[in-house]
Amino acid sequence: MTTSAPQLVVHDDAIRANTSRFADRTDGRLMAVLKADGFGHGAIARSVIDAGATSIGVTTIDEALAIRRDGADVPVLSWLNPVDADFEAALLADVDIAVSGVELLSAVSRAALRTRRRARVHLHVDVGMSRDGAAPETWSALCTAARELQLLGTVRVVGVMGHMSCADRPEDPQNDRERLLFANAVRTARRRGLAGFVTHLAATAATITGAGGTHDVHRIGAGLFGIDPSATSTDLRPTLSLTAPVVGTREIGAGVGIGYGLDHVAAGRTNLALLPLGYGDGLPRSASERAEVHVRGRRRPLVGRFSMDMVVVDTGDDRLHLGETVTLFGRGTDGDPTVADWARWADTIEHEIVTRIGSRVARVHRSTDTLEAAHA
Ligand SMILES: *Cc1c(COP(=O)(O)O)cnc(C)c1O
Repeated sequence: MTTSAPQLVVHDDAIRANTSRFADRTDGRLMAVLKADGFGHGAIARSVIDAGATSIGVTTIDEALAIRRDGADVPVLSWLNPVDADFEAALLADVDIAVSGVELLSAVSRAALRTRRRARVHLHVDVGMSRDGAAPETWSALCTAARELQLLGTVRVVGVMGHMSCADRPEDPQNDRERLLFANAVRTARRRGLAGFVTHLAATAATITGAGGTHDVHRIGAGLFGIDPSATSTDLRPTLSLTAPVVGTREIGAGVGIGYGLDHVAAGRTNLALLPLGYGDGLPRSASERAEVHVRGRRRPLVGRFSMDMVVVDTGDDRLHLGETVTLFGRGTDGDPTVADWARWADTIEHEIVTRIGSRVARVHRSTDTLEAAHA
């Protein structure tokens, strides 16, 4: 098999299969989280909606607008924006906004007045991470302000959300604390006169392990892409394959160094193959001298420090052809490395590997059938 350029093959069939697992597990209360360009997978909103997602969550308004342009006609929520974000554009595109403070809520309310669109807002409470929700001591005032604006008619509170810190460790007592804090926050919202909103706390790990409890909506990102932070699930499928063509080959003798600093020195006569992608395309440099690729049915090590635009494979006795396809990671079905292997080699999590593949690498969306046809 040959390729003419590095390619990130997005297995849409696997994304759909993973999505329908979560749609089943959540009785259809599935918000697909497609932030960071769909965890690096590109335009997949329609695939996840087809497979059972009933809403979509992203970080920024720009991301939400891109999801709308991709043809999504379900509710779309954007949950992290600066106070001067373009809330008017969001409201005109029917994008729901999460707010974590009174200033942000006021900005959304002003945009609602200007656009004559009632803003659908989700109130976001911090249940433990000290990160992007409302601090617990500010929660009651936020609920009161939201209730007042709701009476004025500029906003409608349609959701209350939180996010858990330790859900990948279901036995951690912090999960109980956070579930309790969230339940209290929901009670406070009701006491301040808010009603008819949905609640959502759990993401992938909390949904798989049950650590988040049951809610009206579950926000699932990583799991759609075969990533299980709790490492307990067995039925999720890898969704990406990264391949590159050989653009150069050479044979070297013992003692010859490879790459910057000549960190790697060949132990004996061997063949090298050059691949035209590097850390500038998202290969983690920290995986230098650890990572392996798959070619001609076997694993081969990448040798030397990764460069920005290229890496070198030691192919041993095999002299590869120019244009021959090498797999950096894939579905792991025939010995090829997986995203999980790369995360281990780089001392990071799978999320970071998949979201960093750069824009120089073309995304090619495929289902299994067409992929097999391409191999045939
Ligand atoms: C990223 C994110 C999610 C999705 O989490 P996963 O673990 O990827 O399922 C859910 N909620 C918020 C607020 C997020 O930032």
